[in-house]
Amino acid sequence: MNLCKFPRRGYVQHPTPIEFLPNFSKALGNKVNVYIKRDDLLPGCAGGNKTRKLDFSIADALEKGADTIITCGAVQSNHARLTLAWCVKEGLECHLVLEERVKGSYKPEASGNNFLYKLLGVAGITVAPGGSPMLEEMEKTANALRANGKKPYIIPGGASNATGALGYVACAQETVEQLFHSKLDIHTIVTPSGSAGTHAGIVTGMYGTGAGIPVLGMNVSRPKKTQEDLVHKLVKETAALCGVNADIPASAVTCFDDYVGAGYSIPTDSMVEAVKLLARTEAILLDPVYTGKAMAGFIDQVRKGAFPAGSNLLFLHTGGSPALYAYLETFE
Ligand SMILES: *Cc1c(COP(=O)(O)O)cnc(C)c1O
Repeated sequence: MNLCKFPRRGYVQHPTPIEFLPNFSKALGNKVNVYIKRDDLLPGCAGGNKTRKLDFSIADALEKGADTIITCGAVQSNHARLTLAWCVKEGLECHLVLEERVKGSYKPEASGNNFLYKLLGVAGITVAPGGSPMLEEMEKTANALRANGKKPYIIPGGASNATGALGYVACAQETVEQLFHSKLDIHTIVTPSGSAGTHAGIVTGMYGTGAGIPVLGMNVSRPKKTQEDLVHKLVKETAALCGVNADIPASAVTCFDDYVGAGYSIPTDSMVEAVKLLARTEAILLDPVYTGKAMAGFIDQVRKGAFPAGSNLLFLHTGGSPALYAYLETFE
């Protein structure tokens, strides 16, 4: 596995910190030692995991001569915000197609990421009803732009194709190196699992580096089996792309769907508890849609004794805190 073979823009200049969470570990009864990988502190406007993927995706777009990027996401999409942000830096035009997964949830005047789309100067926003074929919706935008002489490049939702997932193969490599230097033996890594690129990239990287640290995914929308299949498919594509020759088995992908609640982006009590607990013990902000639900799952698994006493666990903080400001009532 030699990731230098792939075009990359260099958005990730330093490894993100791995921090011990003593107060949070204590609040969970000191059964385990909780560490957090601060990908919420990645560069790019307000940080988050999409920066690692866009490092490769936007490099590919530029190599193909694009002058315009089209991508899609939910109405409060961190991925849309970060794609737009890196387009601003690169001098690329950016168009967003937003999927209204919860009916009536797109509000042009909403705060959070939606506010940032406008602040960052988005070239265009199209809103599609929940369940729309998003690739087709983006193709429509692309055709209209081509007719105007533009050279558009489509980045799929969450930049979760094999190219984008390379960003999290790189993160796995970075993490393994950091753990070695700090002599920290991690039992399990826990990550949110959404459009699957993050989860798939880390699993692939854990095979590629040979570190073999197990990875647990906490779903934010889909049922367990559907998500596991989605992640495993992308693992195979990513491994083939970056030359990891191991036949990575389906059993390398484990997902929990117990913490999704009523659906994607719909608040749960355990999410609110998790967001408040991390804020009040470590002053670290999670988000309502991804890391809050993933942390709720993590907390529940610790409380249930799913991990050996005294083990070191690493939670991947994938970012998203700007979305908190679109959920003020939820936290009152
Ligand atoms: C997109 C996102 C995720 C999920 O990552 P995927 O690669 O889409 O699975 C997790 N957390 C935050 C904050 C995100 O924006």
